[in-house]
Amino acid sequence: MFHLPTPYPDELLGSILIRAQRLTGLGGKLLLPKLTGARITTHSPVLTKYPLLASSHGMRMEDFVKQHTLLPYATAYMEPLQRDRIWARLLSEPHATNIASLAQHATKGITHYQLCRACMGEDLRHFGESYWRRSHHLPGVGWCLKHDRLVVATCLSLCSRETKLLLPHEAPQVGQPLAWAQLLRNTPGKKLSQASVATLHEPADRGYASHRKKATQAGYALSRHNIWGQVLAQDLRRYFTSPLLARLGSDFELEPRSWPTTILRPSGGSAAPVRHALMDAFLSSAPRPSRPPDAYMRRKKAKPKDWRAIELRALKTMRAMVEEHVRSQTRVTVTELVERADLSGPWKHRRSQFTEINGWLQEFKASPQSERQTGRRPRAYTSRRKRSQKAPP
Ligand SMILES: [Zn+2]
Repeated sequence: MFHLPTPYPDELLGSILIRAQRLTGLGGKLLLPKLTGARITTHSPVLTKYPLLASSHGMRMEDFVKQHTLLPYATAYMEPLQRDRIWARLLSEPHATNIASLAQHATKGITHYQLCRACMGEDLRHFGESYWRRSHHLPGVGWCLKHDRLVVATCLSLCSRETKLLLPHEAPQVGQPLAWAQLLRNTPGKKLSQASVATLHEPADRGYASHRKKATQAGYALSRHNIWGQVLAQDLRRYFTSPLLARLGSDFELEPRSWPTTILRPSGGSAAPVRHALMDAFLSSAPRPSRPPDAYMRRKKAKPKDWRAIELRALKTMRAMVEEHVRSQTRVTVTELVERADLSGPWKHRRSQFTEINGWLQEFKASPQSERQTGRRPRAYTSRRKRSQKAPP
């Protein structure tokens, strides 16, 4: 078993693997089986499931994963039960864990190694070499929060098969800013970096329940259980702008099921962490709803119904129907009259609104056209067609 030096603070797993290969002089094909105990020739630069890799660096698996992989970010916004299950499984049955999908979940849009030149300079002075940091490799993180400056991209692929074993100070084209860096040169960009990097350090509940609480505090609640998702989504898009959201694979149309609304539901935990980080960053920017919730209440209020007009219209229809039956000498029921007048629902639930119809129907029931004439005929249980063919007595 190898005994390699303890990794640097916040050092990315990929960086640890690069330095291990350089330190031992062994290529990946020889080193990885020794470091992991598995017959592998490549390894993810952001996540691992091999406890031997942690112990080779003098660390407990849990600490190693917490401090040098992106699993804290990948699971930060999941439902607590789901998050605990993933962590427990990785620590107790590591080989049964599918880290590929988790790694993909955590690195949306990150394809190359990225660095901060100030961090690189400090590392060279302190350690004589530089290293790749986790906090510079999260989706949407364009700022080094320590130095308040833009992170820059390199042309070194994060794909483990293409790793060239180079550290930041050796990387070609150092200094080339991220192609989309301009989009991050503002407060929203910094907020997004803060929300994303915080997931690596502070264990806290950040899921949908936390979003809902913050959205309610910001004034987006319509009621105790409803958030005005449509306005929240619109305000979030205005805050980050469509081009930035599109760069993060997260732009959306303003429709009822856009991701900023679905992410506020219990099922939202499965959304990509970058979307949660966007929501988190937006809600921590002290937003105010662009439309106040009482505007929604007003908008939702239907025009008050003119029950008197409805009653007169229905009465006219019913009278005409009874006249037809008088002419054809057939009978009709109250239910049929009410249905024809399109009054079934209101008649059932708001009968008190229709006093005139009520009085008229009492008279109708006593008339020969009523199927069940008051005091004369018992209720007939024959089909309507048959009944209407019968002549009144
Ligand atoms: Zn820095």
